[in-house]
Amino acid sequence: MALVVQKYGGSSVATPELICRVAERVLERHRQGDRMVVVVSAMGDSTDHLKLLAEKVSRAPAKREMDMLMASGERIAMSLLAMAITDMGVEAVSMTGGQSGIITDRVHQSARITELKPARLLKELNRGRIVIVAGFQGITDDEEETTLGRGGSNLTAVALAYALNADVCEMNTDVDGIYTADPRIVPNARKLDLISPDEMLELASSGARVLQSRSVEFAKKSGVTIAVRSSFNDHPGTLIKEMEGMEEVVVRGIAHDESEAKITVRQVSDRPGIAALLFGALAEHHINVDMILQNTSEQGATDVSFTVKEDDLGKALEVCQNIKQEVGAAEVLADSDIAKVSIVGVGMRSHPGVAATAFRALSEAKINIEMISTSEIKIGCVVARRDCDNAVRALHAAFELDRVD
Ligand code: ASP
Ligand code: MG
Repeated sequence: MALVVQKYGGSSVATPELICRVAERVLERHRQGDRMVVVVSAMGDSTDHLKLLAEKVSRAPAKREMDMLMASGERIAMSLLAMAITDMGVEAVSMTGGQSGIITDRVHQSARITELKPARLLKELNRGRIVIVAGFQGITDDEEETTLGRGGSNLTAVALAYALNADVCEMNTDVDGIYTADPRIVPNARKLDLISPDEMLELASSGARVLQSRSVEFAKKSGVTIAVRSSFNDHPGTLIKEMEGMEEVVVRGIAHDESEAKITVRQVSDRPGIAALLFGALAEHHINVDMILQNTSEQGATDVSFTVKEDDLGKALEVCQNIKQEVGAAEVLADSDIAKVSIVGVGMRSHPGVAATAFRALSEAKINIEMISTSEIKIGCVVARRDCDNAVRALHAAFELDRVD
């Protein structure tokens, strides 16, 4: 008899019919003898709708009130699912994040979990009930409601799996698992049976939108095994887990990200302190910088290019314009027609020549590389946005990712 934590995302509980389907799925596992804790997201896009509602009544809604509002989305889903299951003949009980013992700090809208006290939840489980938990939320030690940031239901599920010492944390979603690349771009992309947490983190930060990074980080640190699988079928999905021999595969997958833009600050003075000034100013305005490239200098001046989220481009340009004189720059250029394509695999640690293979594949596909960044297990290339799909396909083919390992 296993203890299973399952999470269902918004698209899996978007309608009453879908909620009843989830209820049947949960019951089936319960009948097989598993003890079930089920974490739900808000129905469909309801979190976005709640946000829009707030914007209609207030120009700057207080973060505390936003949490009170947004936590309600998951509570609608939790109570409906509990009702549906109870109707099918097995007792289920819904619980808020606070009632489940998810204690957080006081940072409204992006609270961090500080403690887990699942005693009440366990009591319900031990009574033989199926427990449904509202995802994405917690409570402070002085009983203020908080939320864990967008996509936070994943984190709720992993945290509970850890606290309850569950056998597995299953993320049920609208895809079958983690793929070697986006199947909409690469038709012969393959579903992975296994991926390491480090690889999953790199893919997620490189544009793969399947799982919230914080939940993978939590799982990695706490040793929780995550299974990503479909809400709509019984295929086994992808296990996120460290296993021996994983380095034998050189490249696990390819991610792409079309949400970044590039800024080039031309002809900045090449002297100590300039980068600190420029990136210090960006940091002060809470602008996250991803890749950075500095050319070799000629006659005491150099070009600095970097990427930011496209949403931050306007603000970042403003910061650069304001600091232009101070860093002695000639001009500031922006390019939002870029994409970042990344190859990820723990096998890169022990296999040389990965970068060479990647660059050769791009060059044979006549794709120009504008920027390169590397980590121990990732190589990321910035290319023109129109080349993105071709770049993903070329790299997928070059590393033979369609072949079963
Ligand atoms: N409902 C929240 C969101 O849309 C949390 C979640 O779905 O995990 O971000
Ligand atoms: Mg959602």
